[in-house]
Amino acid sequence: MVVGLLGLQGAFLDHRHHVARLGHSHRVVRDLEDLAAVDRLIIPGGESTVMAMYLKAYGLVEPLKERIAAGMPVWGICAGAILLAESVDNGPGILKSLGVTVRRNAYGRQDASDVHAVDVSVLDRPAFPALFIRAPRITACGPGVSVLATHDQAPVFVRQGTVMATTFHPELTDDAVFHDYFLGF
Ligand code: GLN
Repeated sequence: MVVGLLGLQGAFLDHRHHVARLGHSHRVVRDLEDLAAVDRLIIPGGESTVMAMYLKAYGLVEPLKERIAAGMPVWGICAGAILLAESVDNGPGILKSLGVTVRRNAYGRQDASDVHAVDVSVLDRPAFPALFIRAPRITACGPGVSVLATHDQAPVFVRQGTVMATTFHPELTDDAVFHDYFLGF
C-alpha cells in the first residue's frame, strides 16, 4: 500500500517512520500524478491557510474532493481537519468532505498549546498523550460523524466512513496506534 503524505506545507515528514514501521511505503503528494499514485492520504498539521492556497494553486482541490468522495481513505490532522471540514466558523471551507464545523485557533495562541491525556479507549489508549498545537475546535458534527474521543467537551477524534480527523498530533508521539487504525480502513 502506498500512503500519500500531502506535502505542500506542514508536518508531513513526521508520518514517514510510523508508515514504514507498519510495513508500508509513502509518497509525498504535491501534484495530480502523485495523487493518482497513492491509495490513501494523510493531510498533515501545519497552517491551513497556506495549504489551502497551494491546493488551489496546484489544481488539487477538485481532484482531491473527487478521490475522497470515491472512497479514498483520508486522515486530516489539525490543519488537515480544517481543510476537510464541511464548514469553518472563521474561514472558508475547502474540501468539504467531513460533516463537521470547526473553529480555527479555538484554544488560543501557540503558547496555549499543550499535551492533554485524552481517553481513546476505542484504540485501547485510555490516556493518550494528545498534543494540541493551535488546534481547531470541532463545534458541530453532522449525523454521519462518529465521535471517537473528546477533550474539554469537544470532539477531537472523529470519523465519517473513510474520512478521519484528529485535532491533535499523534505523529509527534512514538505510538503508531492512530496510523495503524487509519491504515486498516
Ligand atoms: N492553527 C493552524 C491552522 O489554522 C493549525 C495548527 C496545526 O495544524 N497544528 O491551520
